[in-house]
Amino acid sequence: MPDQKSKDVQKVCTMCGETKPREEFKRVLTKRQSASLLRRASVRSPISVISSRCKKCWQQTKRKAPLTIKQIKNKKASGDLHAVVADIMLTQRKQNANLIKKRVMTEYWEKKKAEPIKRLTQNLQQQVAKYANRYHATKSKDPHHALLRQHRENYEMAKRARDELLSRAKAGEVFDINVPLAQFFKKGVSDV
Ligand SMILES: [Zn+2]
Repeated sequence: MPDQKSKDVQKVCTMCGETKPREEFKRVLTKRQSASLLRRASVRSPISVISSRCKKCWQQTKRKAPLTIKQIKNKKASGDLHAVVADIMLTQRKQNANLIKKRVMTEYWEKKKAEPIKRLTQNLQQQVAKYANRYHATKSKDPHHALLRQHRENYEMAKRARDELLSRAKAGEVFDINVPLAQFFKKGVSDV
């Protein structure tokens, strides 16, 4: 009976629920999987099984991440991966790992190098803020205060000294992180 025959070769996928020809469920195992299924140490050629999922669903859930070094070694040992191919892959992994290591180290040293400048910036900014606060507080209390002009000059000098010190620090000059800005007020920053 033709109906009975077509029923036989059709199968329902447990994942997508579609009815498909039995051939769509056939999956060739790796040598390692074959050996494990047959409870043998190794197999000469892989075996195929009828999966509960169709090929399309299987492809979708298949691991997409590249093989790890351990997986490559295992595949080489089981024969799922040709030794020459495995060795090429392992060499590539090693080169990649070295590149990553190199990049991480470069980033580390760049960060390390930028750290003193970051701390210097914070310190100078705090000092400038003190001069700014003193000027604004005096001004709001008394716009004709005798020291107001001096406070404003100090504030301006602090900003100029900060900018100059930071640009010199960024150019490679080394300063004490706690350098007091007032030290550069009278002489002028450029004379230091
Ligand atoms: Zn399916």
